[in-house]
Amino acid sequence: MSRRDEIAANLVSVRARIADACAEAGRYADSVGLVVVTKFFPASDVRLLAGLGVTDVAENRHQEAEAKAAECADLGLRWHFVGGLQSNKAAAVAAYSQVVESLDRAKLVDRLDGGAERTGRVVDVLVQVSLDPPGADHRAGVAPAELGELADRVAQASWLRLRGLMAVAPLGEDAGAAFARLLEIRTAVITQHPDASELSLGMSADLEQGVAAGATHVRIGSAVLGSRPPVQ
Ligand SMILES: *Cc1c(COP(=O)(O)O)cnc(C)c1O
Repeated sequence: MSRRDEIAANLVSVRARIADACAEAGRYADSVGLVVVTKFFPASDVRLLAGLGVTDVAENRHQEAEAKAAECADLGLRWHFVGGLQSNKAAAVAAYSQVVESLDRAKLVDRLDGGAERTGRVVDVLVQVSLDPPGADHRAGVAPAELGELADRVAQASWLRLRGLMAVAPLGEDAGAAFARLLEIRTAVITQHPDASELSLGMSADLEQGVAAGATHVRIGSAVLGSRPPVQ
């Protein structure tokens, strides 16, 4: 089977999973977008995805993302950045990302805003929320208690547009339960910022739980492109 056929078959099954999850949740099948996470996979795969109708791709490491976005600049894709953001790289990320989903601290706001201004293009932002239990060895994401203030800062930045929230299910907890907590946390943000209604929830292993919790898009890597080499 060619790589194109393999990716095409995987896309069919992922789209069917999304459609089934929507039916199960009583949602329209076109209410959930698909963002394909292309980290570790070559630009040639991104090109195949574009040819198969994918409009949105995501990356999580700046150098890899920057190179791939440049190589695929002719494809008209929307690039999402979903990885850990270093403050000294945030401005550079704004140069090729239409959507940054992993903004999780105040220090990044001005950097990203400055980068967007230099690029001359408003960047959509999702604030990443940590769903880890309080006090747990905290990975990425703003603590829910600090979300409101961070969202306000993003909304005030001239070159950023606050579009919503992103989260990753914590390790060792049922994704559905964690995502349900996010829905409560989100209510206050939407009240303050009615346009921030996007919700990026669900990966290959838990897309059904993401859709059930109201995801407006899911971020799918391995179920479309195959397993990645283990990190480190
Ligand atoms: C890698 C990654 C994904 C995709 O993960 P899969 O399990 O391969 O679908 C989604 N979101 C983020 C933030 C990621 O880093």
